[in-house]
Formats: sequence, C-alpha cells, structure tokens
Amino acid sequence: MAECVFCQIVVGAIPAKILYEDDQVIAFDDMNPQARVHVLVIPKRHMASLAEAQDSDVSVLGQLMVVCSKMAQERGIAEDGYRVVANTGRGAGQTVFHLHLHVLGGRSFEWPPG
Ligand code: AMP
Ligand code: ZN
Repeated sequence: MAECVFCQIVVGAIPAKILYEDDQVIAFDDMNPQARVHVLVIPKRHMASLAEAQDSDVSVLGQLMVVCSKMAQERGIAEDGYRVVANTGRGAGQTVFHLHLHVLGGRSFEWPPG
C-alpha cells in the first residue's frame, strides 16, 4: 500500500535501522523508543492489524513470534524478560495500521499495562 509507512520501509523507500529480514518478515528499531530496547517486527505483506488474521496467515504470524524471540536474544533482553505487544485497533493505541509486534525490554514493566 503506497500510503502505508511500514510498506514504505519494506521496499526501502523510507529509511529504518533494519535488524533482520527474511522472505516474510522484517524487524527494525522503533523511531521513538519506549524502552532501552524497542524493536518492531512486521510482516512484509500488508495486513492492517491482528484483527485481519486468517487461517492462511498462520505461517507469517508464527514467524513474527519467532523473530521477536530472536531479536530479544540478540539485543540481550531475553534473560531479564521482555514484553511483546500488538496494539490492535485505535482503542488499544494502534497508530500505524500495518500489523507490527513491539519487542520492549531493558527496563521494568508494570501489570496491568496502561
Ligand atoms: P502503534 O502505536 O502500536 O501503532 O505503534 C506504531 C509505532 O511505530 C510507534 O512506536 C512509532 O514510534 C513507530 N514508528 C512510526 N513510524 C516509524 C518509522 N518510520 N520508523 C520506525 N518506527 C516508526
Ligand atoms: Zn503496510
């Protein structure tokens, strides 16, 4: 989608600090980090949010989670613990409508989340 900022990152039209790429998924640093480590993991194919998930998406959705785990290992937050967040819909705070998982770590977190 031409007007989607994350689709633009996928094709390299908008710069990002790309940390990982395979045929289905890319990961890059969030431009406005909310923790010492704040990585976004996204499908290359545009999906607006988790609300659009179909049975046929099981492979890419699984790969997103595996890459979150890889990123946490690589950035050194796996041992202390980290949070994976998928804001889904405006009411949950989603602002970019291309599915993305936030991987957050390197600080303490509260529960329930705000
Ligand atoms: P959400 O509020 O869950 O939709 O999260 C969107 C995230 O995308 C925010 O944390 C933004 O800081 C981040 N973001 C938006 N545009 C960019 C960009 N061009 N490069 C990196 N991160 C971005
Ligand atoms: Zn998109």
